[in-house]
Amino acid sequence: MTSVNLMALVLLDFSQQRENTWAGSSGRGVEELDFFLSGVEQLYAVQPSPWCPHLTCVQPLPPGGLDTSAPCQDCGDTTENWVCLVCYKVFCSRYVQEHMLFHSIAEEGHLMVLSYSDLSVWCYACNDYIDNQITHPMKDAAHRSKFGEALPSYFFIS
Ligand SMILES: [Zn+2]
Ligand SMILES: [Zn+2]
Ligand SMILES: [Zn+2]
Repeated sequence: MTSVNLMALVLLDFSQQRENTWAGSSGRGVEELDFFLSGVEQLYAVQPSPWCPHLTCVQPLPPGGLDTSAPCQDCGDTTENWVCLVCYKVFCSRYVQEHMLFHSIAEEGHLMVLSYSDLSVWCYACNDYIDNQITHPMKDAAHRSKFGEALPSYFFIS
């Protein structure tokens, strides 16, 4: 599997570039994203970036918190959903019908989403996982809804 070795080199190079030129980089295509993600999942469990310029789009947590059992607003699926951290609508993942991806394309600036499956935060503009303290209240609210207790402190990497 030389492609996996190649992917490792690409990822190393990629993470070094990110340190220097991240704010100026443009988004990549969805196909490339899938390829990139499959490489990440093989090599690392999750290695989120501590910061990205799109964190400014994140809106405060709604007073009612989050409901991780909420269905996709477009198709009603409940198996694997994300919540938009700008408008707090819930849509399904790319493994269901990709309604959150469509949402992020349709609504300008709705770039950051929280997974109700593993509580990771994804930035569509950066095509990267982000773990910043700005999103910790949302992760905590999702954890409370999903597991009935606060987010364990070991979740907080940064
Ligand atoms: Zn859907
Ligand atoms: Zn939204
Ligand atoms: Zn970003």
